[in-house]
Amino acid sequence: MTLPNASLGFATRAIHHGYDPLAHDGALNPPLYLTSTYAFDSVETGAARFAGTEPGFIYGRVGNPTVAVLESRLADLEGGEAALATSSGMGAITAVLWTLLSAGDEVVADLTLYGCTFGLLEHHMPRFGVTCRFVDLTDLDAAAAAIGTKTRLVVTETPSNPNMRLVDIAGLAAICRTAGALLVVDNTYCTPYLQRPLVLGADVVVHSATKYLGGHGDLLAGAVIASKDLVERFRFVGIKELNGACISAFDAFLVLRGLKTLALRMERHSATALALAHDLEAHPAVARVYHPLLDSHPQKTLAERQMRLGGGMIALELKGGLEAGRAFMNGVRLATRAVSLGDAETLIQHPATMTHSTYTPEERARHGFTDGLVRLSVGLEDIDDLRADLIGTLDRLG
Ligand SMILES: *Cc1c(COP(=O)(O)O)cnc(C)c1O
Repeated sequence: MTLPNASLGFATRAIHHGYDPLAHDGALNPPLYLTSTYAFDSVETGAARFAGTEPGFIYGRVGNPTVAVLESRLADLEGGEAALATSSGMGAITAVLWTLLSAGDEVVADLTLYGCTFGLLEHHMPRFGVTCRFVDLTDLDAAAAAIGTKTRLVVTETPSNPNMRLVDIAGLAAICRTAGALLVVDNTYCTPYLQRPLVLGADVVVHSATKYLGGHGDLLAGAVIASKDLVERFRFVGIKELNGACISAFDAFLVLRGLKTLALRMERHSATALALAHDLEAHPAVARVYHPLLDSHPQKTLAERQMRLGGGMIALELKGGLEAGRAFMNGVRLATRAVSLGDAETLIQHPATMTHSTYTPEERARHGFTDGLVRLSVGLEDIDDLRADLIGTLDRLG
């Protein structure tokens, strides 16, 4: 039973792509292959597999049949040729950067990035002779001016973490193509259900599958989706020889389980987040709410053009600044004080002291997010309960 993919919808492909139960004793779910190595029927076969002239598995760090189902499914959903699953989002990002960059190369990155991606680029890549320039990539003229002959990679997230600025992927991709730089987009916030950067012209998509793709806060995983050639290099250089960040078969199995409900979950996360963003924005204690589909978002038109539904993330600032934000985070009863995002549970955290503490206070100020910013990952609970918790806490703080 091979499904004719081109004509199938996203949810159908997220459930079925790349796996045929009838080829596996009828097992509805892909079998979990717990093996570190693979037997060769002859020394010639082993040699041919190492040489890449015969398909087949060699060793767990570069491939596993359970992982292969996940990889083919992720590639299909993102509209890419191939995918590599990794042990975490940072494993995906380091596999890409360490494979493609050499001393003397330059990276241009957006001002706001996931804290550890920023830390890697700002504080550690220079130790290996790679310099990084942080530029406001929401401004395409500034992007074009910053991308030079030494720029090998351009790295961005959109919406950006944590303050929801949007980068025009198609516009930036055109600039990168002219300049001969590769565009890497971290699509963790959106997932391919809401946004497909490769289809918009990006070269490489990276994910923390720990978040929405897994969706249940019970694993760490990552992924890279790109052309076949690039994915081969990320697998056989990045993962095999540089960082060893291969995913475990069990975590791949769990991400496959998460993908089955990705479409449903993203619909619900997004609908609840947008409704709560409106409620929070109307509250007198709130100074500002950041969500791509609010009228107050300066890039709402771009959000409507390049992504769907707005996503499940909200950031907000209270009129009382950092102290009020702290009281709000300590006052909520249903929302859970925790970092990470994309889980069934609504999570609330403080970027300046938590996910983005890799930025110094000066860097945070320069990169455009305040110490009073509170970030919410809106979960799948009943909206009335979330509203009562968040709005009720703001009312109590008075
Ligand atoms: C969490 C996250 C990462 C890192 O992923 P891990 O799975 O925690 O290593 C990278 N980018 C974004 C946008 C994230 O939210």
